[in-house]
Amino acid sequence: MSIKIDRKSGRIILANNETITFDQLLSECEGVMFGMDNTGYCTSCGSENDTEPDSTRGYCENCEKNTVYSVVELLFKIGV
Ligand SMILES: [Zn+2]
Repeated sequence: MSIKIDRKSGRIILANNETITFDQLLSECEGVMFGMDNTGYCTSCGSENDTEPDSTRGYCENCEKNTVYSVVELLFKIGV
């Protein structure tokens, strides 16, 4: 699995041309680290799912694969 960033637009490309902005990812990470959020994104279909903060193989309710990454893990993955 790979996470790509469109450097021009600064958007993170998840899957199926589903994208989120870097700012959106950062604010969602804050929600997970300092709040009660459990936001993750599926790297197969791009769906947003609730998942554990350290998840890299969470279950996706949409496509039923175990490819949900927590937003925190996504942030590590894209290497910032
Ligand atoms: Zn999915």
